[in-house]
Amino acid sequence: MMSIKDIDTTYIAGTYARYDVVLTHGKNALVYDETGKEYIDCTAGIGVNSLGFANKEWVDAVCKQASELAHVSNLYYTTPGATLAKTLCEKSGMKRLFFANSGAEANEGAIKVARKYSYDKYQNDRFEIITLVNSFHGRTVTTLSATGQDHFHQYFDPFTPGFVHAIANDIMDMKAKVNEKTCAIMIELIQGEGGVLPLEKKYVKEVAKLCKERDILLIVDEVQTGIGRTGTLYAYEQFDVSPDIVTSAKGLGNGFPIGAVLLNEKVEYVLGAGDHGTTFGGNPIACAGASVVLKNMNQKMLDDIVEKGEYLKKRLLTMKHVVQVNGMGLMRGVVLENVTAKDVVVACIERGVLLLTAKDKLRFLPPLTITKTELKKALDILEDVLTTWEV
Ligand SMILES: *Cc1c(COP(=O)(O)O)cnc(C)c1O
Repeated sequence: MMSIKDIDTTYIAGTYARYDVVLTHGKNALVYDETGKEYIDCTAGIGVNSLGFANKEWVDAVCKQASELAHVSNLYYTTPGATLAKTLCEKSGMKRLFFANSGAEANEGAIKVARKYSYDKYQNDRFEIITLVNSFHGRTVTTLSATGQDHFHQYFDPFTPGFVHAIANDIMDMKAKVNEKTCAIMIELIQGEGGVLPLEKKYVKEVAKLCKERDILLIVDEVQTGIGRTGTLYAYEQFDVSPDIVTSAKGLGNGFPIGAVLLNEKVEYVLGAGDHGTTFGGNPIACAGASVVLKNMNQKMLDDIVEKGEYLKKRLLTMKHVVQVNGMGLMRGVVLENVTAKDVVVACIERGVLLLTAKDKLRFLPPLTITKTELKKALDILEDVLTTWEV
């Protein structure tokens, strides 16, 4: 009989270098493989499972919705979509949104809004979008263009033109790249896939100011940083800026694919009937689940995220081989010396802890609901792995 691993590698295109584990079920931050072995999850499905595995309220909402109305297309109104949009706008202060199914799609939508805003107001030739070197914005051909990393710019030529990459935290470079063709600047406030690198607040505020002066739209990609991950609903709240467009996905889903493009008063009417669309976007099941996620993002939850994040950072900084800890809240990157992050992840899987990497960093994106006890146990194991490491 073929093992799950054999079947997977035989029938699924080899785009993923998977770890050698078949996961079967979980509860909050604990997850189990087919042999019954338990792992403490510090990955949350790459920042998706905000409320952990099998959160009862989320499961109930999703199951109820699936049993009543799973999908109707965007030709009709549904309660879950409308309700989620209202809550998300009220909580974020944005005016309107449209739904997508992923982070890349949300960013595609944001790019379309920015280009049409500029087209409507200034006509042709004002289409350039400046993003940052080392950014990550998705895997579609256009969002790969937006992504400021050269190794993503191969094999799939021709890429979508109109993207320019500026050096992060260098306002002079940004100013040098802005011209009469610029319609938007798109940034991650913490470069996630790029290695968990937060932007400087001063820089972000200067970029926002530059955008205001030149009627350039500020797009903040909060696909990874959004939905409480950094200790506020969206990370931009901690940078004292008001973006024109915010994209959201990962943590909103808690296990179901969903994305959202949030629009402020400047751009809320840019897209009209027929200008953009999606078959699955705003799917009732995904929306019913996302509403439960948002309902749980209360001040107590956010305070706990900050506290657990500080604890995580403090503990990590005491460990052997740890040089630096970056990030905010429960999004943390760890700079290691004399060990490679990937090897540490493999050793931790062996010991029952799931961790991520981001470039050469070790990365933590645990469920926001991870208990202090679970987090402590995961850190004890990591500490032991690092302490006993044979260099
Ligand atoms: C993950 C990620 C994306 C892409 O999201 P997908 O759902 O994989 O398409 C885009 N931007 C950022 C900042 C991300 O972290």
